[in-house]
Amino acid sequence: MSAQPAQKYDFEVGVYRPPSEGGSASLLVRVTRNCPWNRCEFCSMYKSEKFELRSTAEVKGDIDQIADICNKLKDISWKLGYGGNITREAAIELLNSAPELNYHGGFVMIFNWLQSGAKTAFLQDANSLIMKTDQLVDILQHLRKTFPTLNRVTSYARSKTVAQKSLDELKAIRTAGLDRVHIGLETGDDELLKKIKKGVDSQGHIKGGKKAMTAGFQLSEYWMPGLGGKAMWQNHAINTARVLNEIDPHYIRSRPFYPIAGTPMHERMITGDFQQLSADEQLAELKLMMEHLNFNAKVCFDHAANYWRGRRGGLLFSQSYEGYKFPEEKDRVLALIDEGLKAKNKRPEFLRL
Ligand code: SF4
Repeated sequence: MSAQPAQKYDFEVGVYRPPSEGGSASLLVRVTRNCPWNRCEFCSMYKSEKFELRSTAEVKGDIDQIADICNKLKDISWKLGYGGNITREAAIELLNSAPELNYHGGFVMIFNWLQSGAKTAFLQDANSLIMKTDQLVDILQHLRKTFPTLNRVTSYARSKTVAQKSLDELKAIRTAGLDRVHIGLETGDDELLKKIKKGVDSQGHIKGGKKAMTAGFQLSEYWMPGLGGKAMWQNHAINTARVLNEIDPHYIRSRPFYPIAGTPMHERMITGDFQQLSADEQLAELKLMMEHLNFNAKVCFDHAANYWRGRRGGLLFSQSYEGYKFPEEKDRVLALIDEGLKAKNKRPEFLRL
């Protein structure tokens, strides 16, 4: 009998995922590479990389490789007397038999995911919904069938892409097992959307967001406090609230703007064409936006860039992934902003030009 060829582990793992996908506890499944738009002027994420679709065969092959690693870890665990629990000892034994996994960033990701109960998965990279619907459905069905412990699968998506799919297509994707989409709204102000080259206007954001809600997805919308700078902060705050009120998503998540070297926004700051808000001005913008929010979403500050401090020096806002429930906690958030305004906040070094 000829020996079985050794399994080659070359499944792909992308770089980015939202913090709310459970820290290191989500399984990362790369269905496309990089960003198909790649023109937003504040963003540096995929700038030097070319967008590529991946075939269903490739992605399903990755899922099968991950399943193979999971099964091997469980078998070794039984053999070593750990009852199928994923232990460090089982991982070391597997690494001894498949040393190439020492150099594969995905192994630690799988180990952490299994140890935390194998409950959530995130489809990478920047806009998975750009895939053909039947292909994405095929991948989702394969993922769900292979890992029945999953109770939440999520992905990034662009408003425009969601808006371009028919409701039936979106429902098919939802039924196949995609639970939540994370959309980068950034702002609801049309002039600012144009300026940052988001590739969508406020109506497009509303259309995409509402369609995602109607299709049954949990919807997370990200916005960028400070993106309008000194010239546009009021319109940014008021129009962002207007658009979010119309969409009425499940979550909104604050990602304060800071200039990243190499981006056009950074260049604009250097030439003086864009003036960044001070910490107190950012809080004033936040206050104006919060005052205008009349919706039922959770408002989250789940990122380190939400640096503001309260009167005792601790973080002003909770960085919980579940945030503050509106309208019930709107007054609480407004009171926190007032506290932050009295606390003489300064922008930390890493957020300055
Ligand atoms: S769509 Fe997202 S990933 Fe792509 S350029 Fe814009 S912000 Fe960056």
